[in-house]
Amino acid sequence: MTDHNHGKLIVITGPSGVGKGTLVRSLLEKHPELHLSTSATTRPPRPGEVDGKDYFFVSRHRFQQMVERGELIEWAEFAGNYYGTPRQAVTEAIAAGESVLLEIELEGARQISRTFPEAVRVFIRPPSMAELERRLRSRGQDSEEAIARRLNRAKIEMEATAEFNFTLVNDDLDRALDKLEALLFVPV
Ligand code: 5GP
Repeated sequence: MTDHNHGKLIVITGPSGVGKGTLVRSLLEKHPELHLSTSATTRPPRPGEVDGKDYFFVSRHRFQQMVERGELIEWAEFAGNYYGTPRQAVTEAIAAGESVLLEIELEGARQISRTFPEAVRVFIRPPSMAELERRLRSRGQDSEEAIARRLNRAKIEMEATAEFNFTLVNDDLDRALDKLEALLFVPV
């Protein structure tokens, strides 16, 4: 971050259902200069999700190949599927001076803290676990089994908040967005 010609790498992590996606979309609307990395995943698309935009939806075989060829800067298994960040788009954007956002889970964020220690890592917390469960159910997108797995994983993720540079509670979207902007766009 001492090199001002390079963009920042910003990692947003938080339990599934915490509203990271909405927060990140709102942040991008206000700051179109930020580049959101599109991940690869073996998870099947949800209704309305577009290949190449929401994710690159790939087979397990292709994912394995990406891992072996070093094409991912981090990857993890989450709730029975694999997710990873393609290297090339991220390194090119950063070298071109653009800041890049990664919306990824805990294991991936840990890998980034080792390989890109200068990354800014932000953890988004729900107001409570009960509220998180309510949000996961109200999306109506996942089976009971998937919700249970996501809640279990959420408990583990919440114990790791101290590993992050910043933590913020997503109680209200506008308030959370203000807080996120305040910590990302600190004057230097
Ligand atoms: P979902 O299936 O709800 O889209 O995502 C499940 C979890 O995977 C979320 O916590 C999301 O942040 C995380 N995720 C999405 N893309 C990546 C990625 O490229 N790497 C890692 N480590 N996690 C990801």
